[in-house]
Amino acid sequence: LVARMQGFGETIFAEMSALAVSTESINLGQGFPDTDGPQAMLDVAVDAIRSGLNQYPPGPGLPELREAVAAQRLDRYGLSYDPAAEVFVTVGATEGIASAVLALAGPGDEVVVFEPYYDSYAAVIALAGARRRAVTLRPVDGRFTFDPDELRAAVGPATRAILVNSPHNPSGTVFTRAELEVIADVCREHDLVAVTDEVYEYLTFDDAEHVPLATLDGMRERTVSVSSAGKTFSATGWKTGWVTAPAPYVRAVQTVKQFLTFTASAPYQRAAAYALGGETQWVEELRKGLQGKRDRLIAGLEAAGFVTYRPQGTYFVQADIRPLGFTDGMELARALPAKAGVVAVPTQVFYDDAEAGAHFVRFAFCKRDEVIDEAVERLARLR
Ligand code: PMP
Ligand code: GLN
Repeated sequence: LVARMQGFGETIFAEMSALAVSTESINLGQGFPDTDGPQAMLDVAVDAIRSGLNQYPPGPGLPELREAVAAQRLDRYGLSYDPAAEVFVTVGATEGIASAVLALAGPGDEVVVFEPYYDSYAAVIALAGARRRAVTLRPVDGRFTFDPDELRAAVGPATRAILVNSPHNPSGTVFTRAELEVIADVCREHDLVAVTDEVYEYLTFDDAEHVPLATLDGMRERTVSVSSAGKTFSATGWKTGWVTAPAPYVRAVQTVKQFLTFTASAPYQRAAAYALGGETQWVEELRKGLQGKRDRLIAGLEAAGFVTYRPQGTYFVQADIRPLGFTDGMELARALPAKAGVVAVPTQVFYDDAEAGAHFVRFAFCKRDEVIDEAVERLARLR
């Protein structure tokens, strides 16, 4: 293994999902729903295969999906993108983010991330030969946020880009307009490109609202926005994502992506195009359902003795393990299947600042109610 990938090993999701299988535990680790997306969308994918949409689609993606993405960005956020030049289909959001980072940063460059960060960010920054600078999100009044001065201090002459994930995995924070303004200020002042990870864009709770960074003044021209169908339509295994950005950035992303995978799976693109245009009501039901599941899991975790942080979005709850007498989230996550028959993800692996993340584990609530109930019943035995 090359030097720049030393230390990456197996992802925590692979390790913990394998542990869930081998111990027959309830898997509240890796974030994937245990029910399917809208039936009509599944039918479109099946029909696409049966009707012969089985060869390479165009590298930038099927025109119908690029048009659907452009229409979605316009209708939902008032952002206008040319589907032919400014929308680009990728193998999940992961490949969009990877292609953007590889296109924008190289040896000697720095990329700013907010920690805890989604694990692929660190790996792809390393693959690019660039350095990451992490700004820590810390709980303030029950919600994870950052200190604007720490963000400003993380940016220097070598900074090329900043990676912004909102709604944020694993903290559940949905950045407010005020927080995004701070980020936008820094980007404008230092001439940085923002790469946004918006995969949970529809999955916000209570009165939290997802505001794309590109909608802020002067940001559309310097933002590469990334999203995917996985979370919005409960189809994480379809790996169908997209990038929207000004044409020069899309060309840069395309230059990289075409040599990673060339193109993305055709039938799922058709189904995602259908769902983006036709299943907004279904997604609204999903969102409401998830909000209830969030509250259900939090009530159970609190009853079991964890201190939790109520997320404004995503699939996940961060739980502080110290009230139960534990101090090391990794140790607890590895022991939890034997102790309680439940799998969680230790969020310390998403921090550079080991201390800041040591005592958190992440639980996913994108599961059927009876699964959540059984899990919290088991976790109650930890005391
Ligand atoms: N970003 C975040 C924050 C995620 O939680 C995930 C995991 N689903 C992804 C990206 C990956 O998305 P995709 O499966 O579309 O590549
Ligand atoms: N995004 C999912 C999570 O955070 C997992 C994706 C993966 O397995 N890489 O749980």
